Amino acid sequence: MSETTVSLMPEIQEFLAQTHGHFIDNAVVPSRSGAVMDDVNPATREVLTTVARGGAEDVDLAVKAAKRAFEAGAWANMPPNQRGILLWRLADLIEQRIDIAAQLDSLDMGMPIRQSRYGTTPMAIDHLRYMAGWATKVEGRTIPVSAGSFFNYTVREPVGVVAAIIPWNFPLLMAIWKLGAALATGCTVVLKPAEQSPLSALMLAQWAREVGFPAGVINVVTGYGSEAGAALVAHPDVDKVAFTGSTEVGKSIMKTAADRMARVSMELGGKSPNIICADANIKRAVSGSMLGIFMNQGEVCSAGSRIYVARAIYDQVLEAMETYAKTLRVGHPLDHRTQMGPVVSDEQYQRVMHYIEVAHREGASLIAGGGAMSEAGPGYFIQPTVFAGVEDQMTIAQEEIFGPVVAVMPFDDLDEVVSRANQSIYGLAAGVWTENVRTAHYLAQRLKAGTVWVNAYHVYDAAAPWGGFKQSGFGREMGSYALDLYTEVKDVWIGL
Ligand code: ADP
Ligand code: MG
Repeated sequence: MSETTVSLMPEIQEFLAQTHGHFIDNAVVPSRSGAVMDDVNPATREVLTTVARGGAEDVDLAVKAAKRAFEAGAWANMPPNQRGILLWRLADLIEQRIDIAAQLDSLDMGMPIRQSRYGTTPMAIDHLRYMAGWATKVEGRTIPVSAGSFFNYTVREPVGVVAAIIPWNFPLLMAIWKLGAALATGCTVVLKPAEQSPLSALMLAQWAREVGFPAGVINVVTGYGSEAGAALVAHPDVDKVAFTGSTEVGKSIMKTAADRMARVSMELGGKSPNIICADANIKRAVSGSMLGIFMNQGEVCSAGSRIYVARAIYDQVLEAMETYAKTLRVGHPLDHRTQMGPVVSDEQYQRVMHYIEVAHREGASLIAGGGAMSEAGPGYFIQPTVFAGVEDQMTIAQEEIFGPVVAVMPFDDLDEVVSRANQSIYGLAAGVWTENVRTAHYLAQRLKAGTVWVNAYHVYDAAAPWGGFKQSGFGREMGSYALDLYTEVKDVWIGL
């Protein structure tokens, strides 16, 4: 399907035609240097629009705006129910404009419109509403101290200015995962969206102004990671960095933040194991596992990219996976029939192709896919790719590919598969498919991962905590746990 047969909503056309500056103090401002960068449409490889290419000066303006807003108390000292109301209103506005929000992300980074319209955008709305409810519930405790005649209590104070740095795989949702808890607790934010997909963050900031967020509470600086991102992390007035992205960049951010002991939370890479036991419901296990890898083109930190299948059902499962992969509809992201879109960028396309080449070289056997999918369009389309006969030490069983490529391996017994599944530097998520309740709980207990899905994959909820073990990061976004990331505990002693 060509671009001409996919119509952009008039609101999107109007938005694309705007000059995309940073969003600082409730105003759209160009970069101080005047520099801009291209934002590419991954379905066509054409430049969609240009956005401001931020540097240290722009970051400084944004951080100062956030700091002024924080210190003036316009946000942190606003009655919490009012903060909650604003978050809720923002959710309502996104809901009214859900088709615009969904189309913008699909256009910008290639996720199928079905997913953005019925999956990620509704999740973002729900997340804001969930966090709106927390604004009035950031409570302390009274502590029965034994030290003498004292009244002791704790309060939770907002940590201050938060730098939120997000990736391109779920642009709006990632922005809202960060903003929700940070704003509910009274922090102010400078958001740095990924250079590949900056548009929904800019639109969101304008919508926040429209519903009445005070100036300086939500700021957005666009630009490259090595420029705007690095300047933000290094800024002395940033109290906390909330990062989602690669493990490599996460480590470098931690090092910079360490110098001034800025708080950090890290949601990083993964190589999540997904275990299909001999007693699994095979039909469900196969379709769930294929969704686990191919959803969002495999560009998901929790993609189930290592599938372990009980040897007794290995051949049968492989055959079903082959059929699934070969019939998945890859196409234009704005086409409602599309199940998988293009990968985000030329860089990502080359990277995935490289891993496919390495898999061949290391002796894995190709079951489905394995190449470009030019019939889907001129963009960065890659076939859903399944490799079998993969050994644990092969590159595609160890490194995060972040694309539609899965490694399938047989296993013989549960303890063996647990130890192989846990042999990874990562520990973000894991999947288990079994009809046996003991096996389910046993594996859930033994797997080293922040989330274990049993007879499911890729289910998320605003109320359920999300985050990694090991080099997948630390800190939990979503759920009540997220509040810990944006608050400091203060303990108060009153001599009686
Ligand atoms: P990916 O490899 O998936 O693109 P990255 O970790 O490179 O993930 O990028 C995630 C986010 O981190 C993006 O917003 C990117 O611009 C930003 N980023 C990249 N490098 C740095 C850096 N050195 N300092 C701060 N932010 C960075
Ligand atoms: Mg883009």
